[in-house]
Amino acid sequence: MQRQNAARRQAKSFITKTSVMRHEVNERKTMLLAILIGIIVVALLLAAAVPMAYFRWKQQRRRQWFQTPFPPEWTTILEQDVALYRVLPPDLQRELQGHIQVFLQEKEFEGCAGFEVTLQVKLVLAALACLLLLNKPQEYYPTLRSVLIYPGAFLVNGRWRENSGVYEDGMDVHLGESWQHGAVALAWDQVLHDSRRPRSRQNVVIHEFAHQIDQHKGFSEGAAVFASADQAERFARAVRREFEHLRHEVDDGIDDVIDEYGVVSPMEFFAVATEAFFTMPEELRRFHAELYNCLVNFYRLDPASWRDANGNQ
Ligand SMILES: [Zn+2]
Repeated sequence: MQRQNAARRQAKSFITKTSVMRHEVNERKTMLLAILIGIIVVALLLAAAVPMAYFRWKQQRRRQWFQTPFPPEWTTILEQDVALYRVLPPDLQRELQGHIQVFLQEKEFEGCAGFEVTLQVKLVLAALACLLLLNKPQEYYPTLRSVLIYPGAFLVNGRWRENSGVYEDGMDVHLGESWQHGAVALAWDQVLHDSRRPRSRQNVVIHEFAHQIDQHKGFSEGAAVFASADQAERFARAVRREFEHLRHEVDDGIDDVIDEYGVVSPMEFFAVATEAFFTMPEELRRFHAELYNCLVNFYRLDPASWRDANGNQ
């Protein structure tokens, strides 16, 4: 009987020990789970906080650059070499100066084929590129890193669609080129020629940076970048109609304020229509009123109302 009691005590003590051990293992598991959840929560918070802090820091830095006083000698260069700067209303001139300061800080300028990049080169390019950014929330061409500048026309190897619609492979002479992978290339002699001439109709910098906006937003591929679906639909309709109209004009040998190169594709049409919008706005408004109004909505600017100190466009 005594032996039986001892065995029972031993069994009871074993059961108690086992349940204590089980309890300890469960506690450890719970603690590990809590630590793991804690680590995941901290990682998620960091993943959200770091980009937000970076974004805020970037915005603050941009604000500082934007507000830096614009050197008077820089203004002189703009007045001499950028005809469109002279016709801008004073508030837009001030805004453009701010954007130029940000653009110069954020983008690389690289001289190619022995070309030397001077302050004049940087200012003219930045002014024309930033003209397209006026009067709306800014993104400063987020995918663009470098502007490559050649002294004159340069050769590019690739596949090209001619105005006739025929594709050709091989080397082609270019005055400008916009790539999706972060670069725009330009021929300086053409840039300066277009920039100095009022009502130039063509402007290679405006053309290539219109492509940059388009490539980023996917506008010519149908992305809605307008304030309303109604505006987007109106623009798509106007572009389709004007694109077909330009094709017929080119076939019939009729000259238009929109460059005939626009018949190559909707993407090129958007780029040449943007050139006409900024450099021949009154003519574009007169002969292509709906397209002009759509571009006013798109760029949130009305270049037909711009005049220089003498009242000239
Ligand atoms: Zn183009």
